[in-house]
Amino acid sequence: MTRPSPIERARLVGERLDSAYKLLERCTVCPRCCEANRLAGERGRCGAPHEVIVSSVSLHHGEEPPVSGLGGSGTIFFTHCNLKCVFCQNYPISHQGQGEPMTSDELAAAMLHLERLGAHNVNLVTPTHYAPQILEALGRAFERGLEIPVLYNCGGYESVEMLELLDGLIDIYMPDMKYADAEAARKLSSAPDYPEVNRRAIREMHRQVGDLELDERAIAVRGLLVRHLVLPNNLAGTDAIMRFLAEEISPDTAISLMSQYFPQYHASRFPEIARRITADEYRAAQEAMERHGLRRGWYQNQPIDTDTHSIRRILARDTRPKERA
Ligand code: SF4
Repeated sequence: MTRPSPIERARLVGERLDSAYKLLERCTVCPRCCEANRLAGERGRCGAPHEVIVSSVSLHHGEEPPVSGLGGSGTIFFTHCNLKCVFCQNYPISHQGQGEPMTSDELAAAMLHLERLGAHNVNLVTPTHYAPQILEALGRAFERGLEIPVLYNCGGYESVEMLELLDGLIDIYMPDMKYADAEAARKLSSAPDYPEVNRRAIREMHRQVGDLELDERAIAVRGLLVRHLVLPNNLAGTDAIMRFLAEEISPDTAISLMSQYFPQYHASRFPEIARRITADEYRAAQEAMERHGLRRGWYQNQPIDTDTHSIRRILARDTRPKERA
């Protein structure tokens, strides 16, 4: 599929912006459906105000290899979160609200600045609860010629209605698949409907962008890249998630299988997750991926020497499926 030009994208944003902002009035921007009037300053479960709060704007070199490449990923890290993970590794930002407000114009300028710095993409980190405002900023950036791929880096707890408003504007979706089990999702992220909501969102993302496509430099240009964080005691339900991806999305789904779990924030209150994962647990997750025929993606360093922010080793073979090689 041909990628729309920045001008076409700016036009798409113009057509959809009112619908997106309407979702903030009785907020249904995400599946929590709090119905808080964000436009009038009310806050819902995510804690996000109407104005966008940003924790950082930077070139990030520790994302997955096709995302960071050599030039880095143009990361915009948003404050607050619609998930309530008790083990959150970014809790000062996601739960405690560290960050500074940015207008849509400032956000657009930040995107263009990252492009000028040589970023391979604009990486929107934890964007879900600000999706309408981000859409507005993207529109302004497209008007000014933003060309690099836009990457939506989210927790996977997304509203399909909001995702549909992003169709044609996001090049790469990089969602989490955190849980296959409702009880684990309830206990650890206060979101018992996460598994079904997450699967609907993954289907919609894949419908929009398809399997991950890399350019001749092995940099991601389009598609779906699923992140799965292996949890202690198999609480993430790795086998069920791999089966879903293989059977209902695509056997060519690119997966980042993460071993970096570390008991942060309130995790010590939950004995079942109050430790790192073992090498055996990570190996079992790798075997689940392979058992279901999923061969595209990245394994992370073994738990014993994991750097929590980098994925260093590419253990899978060339990730491009044969027909595109
Ligand atoms: S984005 Fe925030 S306020 Fe809106 S529905 Fe989700 S959690 Fe509630």
